[in-house]
Amino acid sequence: MTFTDFNFKTPLLQAIQDAGFIKPSPVQKEAIPLILEGYDVIAQAQTGTGKTAAFGLPILNLMTGNDGVEALVIVPTRELAMQVSDELYRFGKNCGFKTATVYGGTSYDKQIDRIRQAHIIVATPGRLQDLLKTNRIKLAPKFVVLDEADEMLDMGFLDEIKNIFTFLPKTRQTLMFSATMPSQIRRLAEEILQTPKTVSITKSESTNRAITQHYYVVQEHERDDALIRLIDYKNPTKCIIFCRMKKEVDRLASLLASQGFKVGALHGDMEQKQREITIRSFKQGNVDIFVATDVAARGLDVNDVSHVFNYHMPFDSESYVHRIGRTGRGGKTGEAITLVSPNELRTIKMIEKDVGTKMVTQAIPTRQEVQSSKESELIARIIDTKITPEGINLVKTLQHEIDIVAIAHMLASSIVSTQEIKGKDTIGFGLKEIDALLQRVNKARKDNQQGRRRPQQNRSRQNRDRSPKNSFHKSSNSKTQKS
Ligand code: ADP
Ligand code: MG
Repeated sequence: MTFTDFNFKTPLLQAIQDAGFIKPSPVQKEAIPLILEGYDVIAQAQTGTGKTAAFGLPILNLMTGNDGVEALVIVPTRELAMQVSDELYRFGKNCGFKTATVYGGTSYDKQIDRIRQAHIIVATPGRLQDLLKTNRIKLAPKFVVLDEADEMLDMGFLDEIKNIFTFLPKTRQTLMFSATMPSQIRRLAEEILQTPKTVSITKSESTNRAITQHYYVVQEHERDDALIRLIDYKNPTKCIIFCRMKKEVDRLASLLASQGFKVGALHGDMEQKQREITIRSFKQGNVDIFVATDVAARGLDVNDVSHVFNYHMPFDSESYVHRIGRTGRGGKTGEAITLVSPNELRTIKMIEKDVGTKMVTQAIPTRQEVQSSKESELIARIIDTKITPEGINLVKTLQHEIDIVAIAHMLASSIVSTQEIKGKDTIGFGLKEIDALLQRVNKARKDNQQGRRRPQQNRSRQNRDRSPKNSFHKSSNSKTQKS
């Protein structure tokens, strides 16, 4: 199946081809025909599987361009608003559609001006509600999309969303897209969608996303060394390092910068301008390493992120899914790496069960191992080096005093020294030790289950349904310590 099978109008199809999209992703294959037929749709698919185009393309195809604002897309964050509006602009511009982006922190007047000229609005809930409530704008869109609905609820936007819908016309096509479907979302869907069709892309169908997942067991104080060693070893083209706290983001970013890495930092307290500049420099490749908190990096769509590092375990499985979804985007492969202390092994096991994937544990490579892995890279680099007149002259000069083999040795040593691997020889736990730790965790879990009758797994699930920021991490920790 290709995009031509949807019978899109010619300028739209042209834009899709210009974007280099050939095959629709699973969620696109299922959702696009339903939306074209006019149904309300609630769709669930993992991050990075092309949900934006899944609602964007059929809406653009159905829009006329002479009815003012025809489509309203509500997204959780400013970054996402810009991303989604970029994507819609890219596909809609051949049809002459204009997009306006609406979010807090910028002037009202400019936004209202743009809204007056726009065919599509992409907005965050806070500012949108504000504009509607104060009568600054009136909207009668035919299409309303709630994008990344789970994140919107996680961020506490439920009331704003419900309120926004009181300002919208009853006759409309409503679409809801989300990476996960907690019960809260289903309840909201019952309120705002009419006899919706459901699209759910299960894990096995979406595993065309090749993300390998590894975890490494380290002592609490070894995290920094482990991280640097792994970056040296894995050689990421671009990577994101996730931390739990803003303070940690700042500390790690300066540590890595002091080691000569090109680093950017992203957290919730940063000024909007600064965030945009940081994200842009990451996209353009001026920065290779991004240190971020969960909230700051939500939905971030940067191509070519080869690795995601979890400096600390995320607090719950849903964050884990969102974090690792920053890599392996647009059909590329990616690697997710998590650092855990022995006390957190139990949480790893729970996330594995919750997410339905297997994470493989490995020992952190020794300094020697990294050094030898660099050797072949160095050899390739030397072989690929073009001989320049300056180089020839330098050797000529040296040759007066030093014999040619010695010169070669010196030059090679000089190159090797620029790639010297720092740090302790061995970091973290070896495979045998990890095995022993895991056996203890398993045993403690079994004992626990027999002792309680009610399995731990179910308990944590119930907790999570009640509040998205559940605390199973803490409880599991204290239990492991006892064992
Ligand atoms: P999601 O919303 O599911 O997290 P996005 O809509 O942000 O995913 O898409 C992730 C990336 O994949 C984007 O860069 C997008 O341009 C790209 N993409 C989406 N659909 C396709 C497709 N059919 N072929 C190639 N790339 C695609
Ligand atoms: Mg999305």
